[in-house]
Amino acid sequence: MDAIAAINWQDRADRLQFRTQAFIDGAYVSAASGKSFDNISPRDGKVLTQVAECDAEDVNRAVAAARRTFESGVWRDQHPRARKAVLLKLARLMEEHADELALLETLDMGKPIRDSRSIDIPLSIRCVQYYAEAIDKLYDQVGPSGPDAMSLILREPLGVIGVVVPWNFPLMMAVWKVAPALATGNSVVLKPAEQSPLTAIRLGELAVEAGVPPGVLNVVPGFGETAGQAIGRHMDVDMLAFTGSTEVGKYFMRYSGESNLKRVSLECGGKTPHIIMPDAADLDKAAANAAGGIFFNQGEVCNAGSRLLVHESIKDEFLEKVIHHSRRWTPGDPLDPATTMGAMVDAKQHERVLSYIDKGKAEGASLRLGGAAARTDTGGYYIEPTLFDGVDSSMTIAREEIFGPVLSTLTFKTTEEAFKIANDTIYGLASAIWTRDISTAMKAARTIKAGSVWINCFDAGDITTPFGGFKQSGFGRDKSLHALEKYTDLKSVWIDLS
Ligand code: NAD
Repeated sequence: MDAIAAINWQDRADRLQFRTQAFIDGAYVSAASGKSFDNISPRDGKVLTQVAECDAEDVNRAVAAARRTFESGVWRDQHPRARKAVLLKLARLMEEHADELALLETLDMGKPIRDSRSIDIPLSIRCVQYYAEAIDKLYDQVGPSGPDAMSLILREPLGVIGVVVPWNFPLMMAVWKVAPALATGNSVVLKPAEQSPLTAIRLGELAVEAGVPPGVLNVVPGFGETAGQAIGRHMDVDMLAFTGSTEVGKYFMRYSGESNLKRVSLECGGKTPHIIMPDAADLDKAAANAAGGIFFNQGEVCNAGSRLLVHESIKDEFLEKVIHHSRRWTPGDPLDPATTMGAMVDAKQHERVLSYIDKGKAEGASLRLGGAAARTDTGGYYIEPTLFDGVDSSMTIAREEIFGPVLSTLTFKTTEEAFKIANDTIYGLASAIWTRDISTAMKAARTIKAGSVWINCFDAGDITTPFGGFKQSGFGRDKSLHALEKYTDLKSVWIDLS
């Protein structure tokens, strides 16, 4: 029995204490209005706990704390070695609390505990470590200004960073932004999604325990239209880092334009094409990835391979293989370590995904697998892995981001047609192609308008590789040293030596 299977997660869940207040200026506080909202576990549709419902007033307090700490230099002016040590300690504390954080994630948003414990939390820890270790290895530049002058090109932190994130990888999406923002010396106000605030709330406390000065990282749980909008429109927030839907990403552009022109970085939706060429070396492996690429995390993945583009000569054979591999993806209790697929995050998302399945049927696609709610007796929000064949690019299920376990199969005759279909979308987050032909692979890498192109693999990469979108999937990159650029600005210093 492995370490994750050896734990009785239900027993741990029964004994779990929830932190549910906002974390502002180094302390847990209730919302100024005194309001709280129900935090419902998608696992069984039951109220898990009540969480502080922050709004503009709480955001004001959090921004004031962030501003004060930034201007005082209590964090940004610490020696880089000292800030590195603090963030490395935060990573160690996250490691010590990894079981608890994984459990919070699973109860909050319904993903399998095996995924939370072996993917979300370890990758979040690695992200914090990565940016911690970068802190004392970054250099500024000296310009080629000739003998009579010296020009220094300095990178400076921006100030107060607003971070607004979604619910699909709650802690990981948060630290992808919080870690580089803190590493570069900024102060942060983080708003987690209302569906999944628990790990972010805990992160604030762990950061202070690690030595991040109180007020440098503030966490304000609440709803998008109130707390999220208040951050987006705040006159004293210098930069807004957002991950979420394209629709809400556009709101943040508007908030910025109508307030203080704060910088905005957007990581938005996707409709990833997953292309299978007839010369793929291992169709079986490609089929396993096609299934995993859409059913992992219940399909609630921005880069989920939701459009399967298969060459017409191998389509029938390939779909049989995908259906075979889909058997390993079965909705189950998220607290059971054997479960591979959990619940949709909430009742609304459950309804939304089912309505897309209805649209697929109504518009003439042929349902080959699933297509219905599952485990309805639990009160939770489960959906069967679903596969459509006979989809064309004009259908709603080929155009809109479903954000659930629904795979649409399209066919093509030529490579050019495959690339054309791949690019026939408003999104450009990721793409994948399986082929033995190096020139087809490299043409795909050149032609497909997407931030990531995976060749003979799917959803591959690590913290060293930038991640983000083209087109309406957004702009700005998370992960890698490039992510540091958006939390800093260039300052030129020209020294006359004549
Ligand atoms: P969402 O856009 O509804 O919400 C994201 C965040 O924005 C939440 O914190 C929410 O409270 C807030 N928000 C909502 N309405 C707001 C408003 N009017 N003003 C201010 N803030 C508001 O997205 P979601 O449903 O939480 O997440 C799913 C989306 O996230 C999908 O589109 C997915 O593709 C995208 N996503 C993208 C990436 C990426 O890296 N590109 C990663 C994960 C998820």
